[in-house]
Amino acid sequence: MHEMSYCEGVLDAVNRRARGRPVARVGVRIGAVHRVVADAFAQSFQLAAAGTPAEGAATVLVVVPVHGHCMDCRNEFDAADPSPACPACGSLDVAVSGGDEVILEWIEYVSANAERSDEHVPAHTHEGV
Ligand SMILES: [Zn+2]
Repeated sequence: MHEMSYCEGVLDAVNRRARGRPVARVGVRIGAVHRVVADAFAQSFQLAAAGTPAEGAATVLVVVPVHGHCMDCRNEFDAADPSPACPACGSLDVAVSGGDEVILEWIEYVSANAERSDEHVPAHTHEGV
């Protein structure tokens, strides 16, 4: 389940900001190119967060679409599919940009205080690098 590698980066950012406060929910914006499945992400986060202030926190994912530029008909469009076909002409010759961010957007604490974050989180964490 590759969602776990994303959870670790998000969880690090959450716990750094929470500083021991219990976390109720976290909002994460994640680019479509990462192909993260919301349910798998939520499950991975629960596992990773056990024993930290984020234990039991719900995750709210917003998937950021990729931007497509059709090389055949020059159509510009957004797509949730990271390898989209052009919706205008059906061409697969599409240049894709964006949709690659991972951002911890907000944190909601059990005390009902919410905090904006907008912190960029590394998509993959590499221990000891
Ligand atoms: Zn096209």
